[in-house]
Amino acid sequence: MNSPARCYFDHNATTAVAPEVVEAMLPFLREYWGNPSSSYTFGRQLAGPLGEARARVAALINADPREIIFTSGGTESNNAAIHSALATQPGKRHIVTTAVEHSATIKFVQLLQKQGYAVTFLPVSPDGALDLDQVEQALRPDTAIASVMWANNETGLLFPVQEIAARCRRRGVLFHTDAVQVAGKLPIDAQALEADFLSLSAHKLHAPKGIGLLYLKRGVKYQPYIVGGGQERGRRGGTENVANIVAFGRAAELARANLAQAETRVRALRDRLEAGLLRQIPETVRNGAREPRLPNTSNLAFAGVEAEGILLLLDQAGICASSGSACTTGSLEPSHVLTAMGCSAARARGSIRFSLGIANTAAEVDYALERLPGIIARLRALTPA
Ligand SMILES: *Cc1c(COP(=O)(O)O)cnc(C)c1O
Repeated sequence: MNSPARCYFDHNATTAVAPEVVEAMLPFLREYWGNPSSSYTFGRQLAGPLGEARARVAALINADPREIIFTSGGTESNNAAIHSALATQPGKRHIVTTAVEHSATIKFVQLLQKQGYAVTFLPVSPDGALDLDQVEQALRPDTAIASVMWANNETGLLFPVQEIAARCRRRGVLFHTDAVQVAGKLPIDAQALEADFLSLSAHKLHAPKGIGLLYLKRGVKYQPYIVGGGQERGRRGGTENVANIVAFGRAAELARANLAQAETRVRALRDRLEAGLLRQIPETVRNGAREPRLPNTSNLAFAGVEAEGILLLLDQAGICASSGSACTTGSLEPSHVLTAMGCSAARARGSIRFSLGIANTAAEVDYALERLPGIIARLRALTPA
């Protein structure tokens, strides 16, 4: 079989910038490079495109454009939500989160812990589920915020964030959700969700890196995390990244248009890849064998092999996948997500995440299905039992 030039199965790490998105942003690099805060027309005229982009990203999550704060990405948005909840409620010094959050949340709350804040890391079951009663029991009178991701970037598993948001609301605790992995894969309705804060990142959505948003529910008090000029209505200092904001707006529009395809065609490709690998490769199991989950993600444990070896041989075959998150690749630590799910270190170290996108084809899936069994067999033959 002809091998495709590159099979990219790592869409949870980042995505290609869509050609339409590049087209949309180019005028703002070439011609309209003024500062939106300037008083002359060359700067002021950017208010229109910025407003349009804000409306487009708001439409993707069914929010009001005034509830959108543009940030540098998912990491900043997560940090900013937690920071604001603590800064606006100085008497509350407790944070609730989970053991399987992205490092953009975990590392930030660990830093806060060192500064004297109390943090509860909620455990998950072996299939990656949270116990809702346990979530509720963790909420204390001094809890400032609960931050629970919507979809896990490593396993694709979804948490019932609407139900968690409701329980937090009843207890007077602010609620933030990291929805970075949900955007473009499943519908997001911020009004129905009723979270106080929600984070998105553009580069997981076919826009450039370095741009994202924090949704801030109307009426929720906010204290900026990045302080400077009065941009973003005083909620985030720094000259607007105009080209990237326009790109994010265009990508949001495309994501809305492609959502049905992401949910059906991508899911079918993922299911075909996953079922094929489970069938063809002995001693292979799925991590987090539970629904609901993202339609694009498959996390599989191959017994008796190291993910590093698999990734090396996959790379030689032109296949991009990952072990754990991109942020922890290169460290010898097993994934904190799989560890929290009770996986042994050996199983976690033999686990690979495949994450598909709308550009993937059935031919690419077939190519991976053709190559992987041989790769695993070869590595197993090298490893003494
Ligand atoms: C990628 C990712 C982030 C970080 O977003 P950046 O824009 O890269 O800072 C945060 N949370 C999750 C779940 C992610 O997958």
